[in-house]
Amino acid sequence: MTAPSLVDVEPLRTILEMECQRNYVDTTVMGGLDKFLRKWAVETRDKINSPQLLVHFNELQLAEPSYAAWDTDRRKAWVKDVLDWLARAEGAAGAAPAIKNPACSVVASRASSASGARSPNGDKGLDSDVTVVKGVSANLANKLARLGVKTIRDLVYFFPRRHLDYSQRKSIAELEVDEEQTILATVWEARIARLGNQRGTEITVCDESGTMRVVWFNQPYLAKNFPTNAQLMLSGRVTEFKRQKVFESPEWELVEDKELIHTGRLVPVYPLTRGLYPRQLRNLVKRVVDNWTWQVADFLPQETKIRCQLLDLPEAIVQAHYPDSHLTKAEARKRLAFDELFLLQLGVLDKKRDWQESQPGNAFNIGGESINGFLKSLPFTLTLAQQRVLQEILADMKQSRPMSRLLQGEVGSGKTVVAVAALLVAADNGYQGALMAPTEILAEQHFHSIRQLLSRVSHKKDEQGNVCSYDGLFPRPVTLALLVGSLSEKEKENLHQRIQEGEIDIVIGTHALIQKAVEFCKLGLAVVDEQHRFGVLQRSTLRQKGFNPHILIMTATPIPRTLALTLYGDLDLSVIDELPPGRQAIRTRWLEPKYRSRAYDFLRRQIAAGQQAFIICPLIEESENIEAKAAVAEYERLSNEVFPDLRLGLLHGRMPANDKEGVMQSFRDGKLGILVSTPVVEVGIDVPNATVMLVEAADRFGLSQLHQFRGRVGRGEKQSYCVLLAENPSPEGRERLKAVEETQDGFELAEKDLELRGPGEFFGTRQSGLPDLRMARLSDTPLLELARNEAIALFHSDPGLKMSEHRLLAQEVARVWRSGGEWS
Ligand code: ADP
Ligand code: MG
Repeated sequence: MTAPSLVDVEPLRTILEMECQRNYVDTTVMGGLDKFLRKWAVETRDKINSPQLLVHFNELQLAEPSYAAWDTDRRKAWVKDVLDWLARAEGAAGAAPAIKNPACSVVASRASSASGARSPNGDKGLDSDVTVVKGVSANLANKLARLGVKTIRDLVYFFPRRHLDYSQRKSIAELEVDEEQTILATVWEARIARLGNQRGTEITVCDESGTMRVVWFNQPYLAKNFPTNAQLMLSGRVTEFKRQKVFESPEWELVEDKELIHTGRLVPVYPLTRGLYPRQLRNLVKRVVDNWTWQVADFLPQETKIRCQLLDLPEAIVQAHYPDSHLTKAEARKRLAFDELFLLQLGVLDKKRDWQESQPGNAFNIGGESINGFLKSLPFTLTLAQQRVLQEILADMKQSRPMSRLLQGEVGSGKTVVAVAALLVAADNGYQGALMAPTEILAEQHFHSIRQLLSRVSHKKDEQGNVCSYDGLFPRPVTLALLVGSLSEKEKENLHQRIQEGEIDIVIGTHALIQKAVEFCKLGLAVVDEQHRFGVLQRSTLRQKGFNPHILIMTATPIPRTLALTLYGDLDLSVIDELPPGRQAIRTRWLEPKYRSRAYDFLRRQIAAGQQAFIICPLIEESENIEAKAAVAEYERLSNEVFPDLRLGLLHGRMPANDKEGVMQSFRDGKLGILVSTPVVEVGIDVPNATVMLVEAADRFGLSQLHQFRGRVGRGEKQSYCVLLAENPSPEGRERLKAVEETQDGFELAEKDLELRGPGEFFGTRQSGLPDLRMARLSDTPLLELARNEAIALFHSDPGLKMSEHRLLAQEVARVWRSGGEWS
């Protein structure tokens, strides 16, 4: 073997790999590759100690390059040859190959044979721990973990929040005060200086248009970075000092024939955590993206990419971090957002197919007289929207393919009665029905109101605690039961038994209903109230409860249709887009707590006029116990000090079920003027005589939650009011309060909520089992539609993604759905 070569292959290799990644457009090096090569060749030639390498070096014309003049094919061939040469030069060095993973397929084979050198657990590739990356200590890894970054893949997919636009370069003379700008200048002199009463760095730079001062307060150690005559890129805000323009603490970067990271371009801004600095994170991400992105397999079928005009995946990832321009940044986002929505949709379609085809459902006989009798008996006529939606539901239940429908309707639009009609149809067909609510109080309320509705068309035959039978609607009696977690073990056991034996027709309960112990005899329809707390997981558990029941999910969270179809794509959609007649707009006011006594006076007047009011105690996140205690204290204060003359009730999540039911009952019957409650009344409570909703510490609640509270009033014909008390809300809290004050439209509020909180929290995606959405903007309807249509078409042509060309795609679907939920 010849003596070791001293050629430093790394810089050129990096550049060439970038160049091939960028399709040989000669943008990798500022001023062009040729300029770089000439300089590089002079330094390198003397270090080549193998005659053979030198021959090839000359053949490749590395010292006299004309890359700029060539067309793409020629450039491509030449780059490949040079990379080969570099590999040999490196091999000649005899050292362990300092492998730099190539950024494109031309050289991929070379690296894959040696990639073990970079990743000790190389077989894990992108899923290796971040500590595999040179320079990532356990300490740094801990900080990254706080940002959710554990593996190389996480880091590659750790996208910036936004970019600083430092791409527009100016001359010193052109700089304007108070704007973010970039200059390329030459260092004239750099020194440690006293700036005010601190030590800092002060340098003078110049370009052909003038000179200026640049200062960094408190960072004297920077001075050594700026040798005289160095070319320096500076980006940041320009200020004025003694009528001179100055850069104060700008981002800086020496221009040394390498790509810019911190200046002079669109510079990424990453989420940070304590002890992690922007420059450090940018350097790290840049290195990892350059070295590893080529390993990310592009799982999208070629035709899809072409049809939808999408970038290749590695390219999109690179551009999402370090975009060449605003345009490529937008294209990168489009590709990555498309992926998220497309994968989400494929997973959802797969689930739908899975349960629709695994076993047939029950085709019900619709059009029995009993249901008409029930509808006629109601104290009101259904709105047109209710009628339409009921028809849609019944049409589904006629099929042997199980229904899977999402019923959307604004708070107070009357979803419950529609659900009850459907449950009665199931019972009429000899099947069981289940109605599940998110809280016990709500389950109790449903139990109560269904009993009331039934007693209008039939007579009570029998009642024992939580079980109640009615005669006269069907040829046989209908039996209703309430099953909640707070029943005694014995009562529960008894009820389980009766459900299992088919003695109970309609069970109303909380999610306890889908726990293992409950076996149905013949479950035909399951209705889930308030979907946004009810995940994919629970849905699938429910389906396993036998007989592949029809499923109806009700939600008051009004999300745009396309979005609903994407997120709940396994469901068909029905919308009640009309409120019962006579509802009035609710007047909403946000007050500072110093006006609390005025609010109390107002309550008092409403109650004197025969109305009722809710007072919601603050949300306390630590524990339900503390929250309950706080509510008790508030209830006592209000009863003793503020409204000693009125009758108040208290409701919190820690009360025994019977007490809760008792309080609700008294409130419904008008025996209580004010109901003091923890946020448990958020959903569903229906007391039409209540006209005031007062919410304490309103800024702690989310928008949709506030809208739900407000939905508890305005259910009758009287003018209703919502009073929001909030002390010193954060800017975001302020924005929420203003939004609720200004609009009644749940749809608009939901969009706003989505925007403020992001989809993860809004939908509780963790708990719902949906994969994360990071790049997708849920308001981007065209892209949602595009992704959905593509997914449907693909799924149609290859259900189950069994074809070999969809293998990568199937893997990716499995991967994102696995990491999305905790339930698999
Ligand atoms: P939500 O959709 O929020 O669950 P509910 O089902 O609780 O709404 O209904 C709200 C109130 O409106 C209830 O008191 C219910 O009896 C009443 N209601 C439902 N439908 C109608 C209708 N068509 N006309 C008048 N009142 C109705
Ligand atoms: Mg409801």
